[in-house]
Amino acid sequence: MTNWLDKILSKAKEAGAKLTDSFKKKTIENADLWSSCPECKKMFLGKQLKENMYVCTQCDYHFRISANERFKIFFDNSQFEMIQTKRLAEDPNKFKTELKAYKDQLKSAKRKTNQIASLVSAHGKVNSLEMVCSSFDFNFNGGTLSMQSGQNFYEACEYAVKNKVSALAVFITTGGAALQENLFALYQMPKTILGVQMLKENKIPYFVVANVNIGGVSASFGSLGDFHIMEPGKKTIWGFAGKRVVQGTISEPLPDDFQSASHVITTGAIDMVTHRKDQKNVISNLVSILLKKQNVQQTIVEEKFEEAKAVNQ
Ligand SMILES: [Zn+2]
Repeated sequence: MTNWLDKILSKAKEAGAKLTDSFKKKTIENADLWSSCPECKKMFLGKQLKENMYVCTQCDYHFRISANERFKIFFDNSQFEMIQTKRLAEDPNKFKTELKAYKDQLKSAKRKTNQIASLVSAHGKVNSLEMVCSSFDFNFNGGTLSMQSGQNFYEACEYAVKNKVSALAVFITTGGAALQENLFALYQMPKTILGVQMLKENKIPYFVVANVNIGGVSASFGSLGDFHIMEPGKKTIWGFAGKRVVQGTISEPLPDDFQSASHVITTGAIDMVTHRKDQKNVISNLVSILLKKQNVQQTIVEEKFEEAKAVNQ
């Protein structure tokens, strides 16, 4: 009797577990499958969105994408190697609010993105040119600049110099400095600037491509590129303080497109507004022109040197 009852109970349990698994799977798949555009609300298949480089097929809204997706889009055949960096101590201020401890926030961001910080870097080929690419990930604490992110960018510059790559590009989608790290986050401003300086001293072209570029990032390495490129769209931002803060300070209404790509291009702060599908070609073309120019200059210097040598002999 007990044996018969046990068998039925165990089969029911098995069926229940299978049902739960299939329900969970279905929910996850559906979340991946359908996406809606925050701008025009169009619903479309996730697969189509991926094929269109996460740009809305109807209104051209550029989604904020992960660092991993950036690298896959930017590097030839989606092939790249992640650059490993020194791990720093976390949460120097032991910061916590009534709602959450920063330490726990970091833990969940790491789990969500599989990254150690909001900015990570990779090395690969872009239209056959060796390049280093750093990228913020908005899913990691809103892409805020922490000590580890600053360290990662600085080491990406060191790596670029050591490996004599053709250029370094940084893709910025950030909420500014990580306030939970206070001064330690602000120290990343001079540190990242030193990284950019290292690139300039070694004649490595440096590109800034931004979707959202504000606060401590726009006030440091986010505004020091040889070329500043912005993704198009009303929701892209380039500035220091946010629109509401500026409006509150000057007590004057601001244009609707204030700080967005269409406005910033008129101010001279950026060089061009470039669709995501064109960024790779635009950057690699500019790098080729710059390298050719450098080679031409080098040849002229060598010719002049030879001429001077001949005259002295
Ligand atoms: Zn749209």
